[in-house]
Amino acid sequence: MGLDDCIFCKIIKGEIPSEKLYETEQVIAFKDISPASPHHYLIIPKIHKASLNEFDQEHKLILGEILLAAKEIAVKQGFAESGYRTVINTGKDGGQTVHHLHMHLLAGREHKWPPG
Ligand code: AMP
Ligand code: ZN
Repeated sequence: MGLDDCIFCKIIKGEIPSEKLYETEQVIAFKDISPASPHHYLIIPKIHKASLNEFDQEHKLILGEILLAAKEIAVKQGFAESGYRTVINTGKDGGQTVHHLHMHLLAGREHKWPPG
């Protein structure tokens, strides 16, 4: 499972180091290497899917797990009440650069709307 040349699949397999802070059977979360906020984590499915466009009805549970992981990390890290931003970038116009679906979890400062 996973793509040989996918950086996030390599993180899942432990072939590239990462600072993991959450793991279930289907999902892992780790620190973003280039944080845009004091807290910046990436939550990813262990199955390789390039973007949200590749998800379907059969993946409802894993998509739900990704959202719930964000909430659990927010509670554990202590920013559930102050608030946080969750973002999934898809494709060129979405600003996606790594083609393994990931949800950003950002906190520790006020985030503006609309994003750039
Ligand atoms: P996106 O622009 O939504 O595709 O976001 C990709 C994110 O992956 C960026 O915020 C990068 O800083 C992050 N990233 C890229 N390589 C790594 C890595 N090896 N470990 C952790 N985060 C990474
Ligand atoms: Zn992958």
